[in-house]
Amino acid sequence: MSDTVRVVRDASLATRNTFGVAARAPWLVEADDSAALPELLQRPELRDGVALVLGGGSNLLFAGDAEGAVLALTGQRIEMGDDHDGLAIVRADAGVPWHGFVLWTLAQGLAGLENLSLIPGTVGAAPIQNIGAYGVEVRDLIHAVEAYEPATGLLHRLGAGACAFAYRDSMFKHAPDRYIVTAVEFALPRTPALRLDYAGLGDELLAMGIAAPTPTQVSDAVIAIRRRKLPDPAVLGNAGSFFKNPIVPAAQAEALHALHAALPMFRAGDDSTRKLSAAWLIDACGWKGHRDGDAGVSATHALVLVNHGQATGHQLLDLARRIADSVQVRFGVALEPEPRVIGARW
Ligand SMILES: Cc1cc2nc3c(=O)[nH]c(=O)nc-3n(C[C@H](O)[C@H](O)[C@H](O)COP(=O)(O)OP(=O)(O)OC[C@H]3O[C@@H](n4cnc5c(N)ncnc54)[C@H](O)[C@@H]3O)c2cc1C
Repeated sequence: MSDTVRVVRDASLATRNTFGVAARAPWLVEADDSAALPELLQRPELRDGVALVLGGGSNLLFAGDAEGAVLALTGQRIEMGDDHDGLAIVRADAGVPWHGFVLWTLAQGLAGLENLSLIPGTVGAAPIQNIGAYGVEVRDLIHAVEAYEPATGLLHRLGAGACAFAYRDSMFKHAPDRYIVTAVEFALPRTPALRLDYAGLGDELLAMGIAAPTPTQVSDAVIAIRRRKLPDPAVLGNAGSFFKNPIVPAAQAEALHALHAALPMFRAGDDSTRKLSAAWLIDACGWKGHRDGDAGVSATHALVLVNHGQATGHQLLDLARRIADSVQVRFGVALEPEPRVIGARW
């Protein structure tokens, strides 16, 4: 066996998902070198296919065990390419930890990713749900996604336009078994165009005494806000926001707003729809701080489901369904989970 491949039979995944729930996989295969994927997928453990490509497990809810082999790509290469249209091209392996990558780009004097600081997980997972925070989505900085397609044996280099990126969404999310993302290329400006107008970021910088911030100072401010607001998965199991902000027809949003003036709503691209605050809807239904045994809702953030210790994935899923049902009954709005649910249907 190559020393860049590690195989574990009947593997526990409890420490490999940020909810910290118990789950197992018949095989866990870790590989540093994605170039070896064609050969790797011929191994007996992977011959029936890959049931799940696992990154940092920070956007997954295991409501059951993995139904087949789990593959984790662990390559750590980061490479600078030639500039393209005045933007620096940086290519990172799928296995590179996301936050470390953001800090690396900032240390190179490259801007663009500062608002996405401290999001858990890996570079390879970033395009899957088009990660976003503080008014920035990663699609705006992605140049291309390199993805291996096991069914054809082809390694694709997909331009951002081919990925169907949308709010917390991409074509990868709709076809989770089709591609294995092996690396992502980013196009990053050397001259920053900072986005400070979102969720208290400008105020945080002012409180830090910074009037004309650098990208690194923006990153510091984002880190400070996130540390205050979001539970640390190492202390309290969670997967960040459990629900997406629902996008509804503008007329429905206006009607709801007429009844509930405090309900935050935002433009969602075109004029015919509005994005509503899922946190507000959940909070209004009284769920913040709710606890069913060890499955709970964060006391500080209504969107975040938490594992107080021994909750199972099923208990967390059951709580999530009851939250969504109550929002549907009270406001007529369907909530959709943001993490991928393994072993059960939403
Ligand atoms: C405290 C906390 C805060 C968070 N804040 C944010 C936030 O602000 N914004 C945001 O967008 N998200 C946020 N998240 C969610 C999560 O961090 C991101 O979605 C992250 O990109 C998931 O990365 P991961 O490596 O952990 O992916 P995993 O959870 O391991 O996987 C998620 C999905 O991606 C797929 N996948 C992973 N790697 C690959 C690959 N190489 N090829 C193909 N498919 C792959 C998996 O199969 C799965 O479907 C937060 C999570 C936590 C716990």
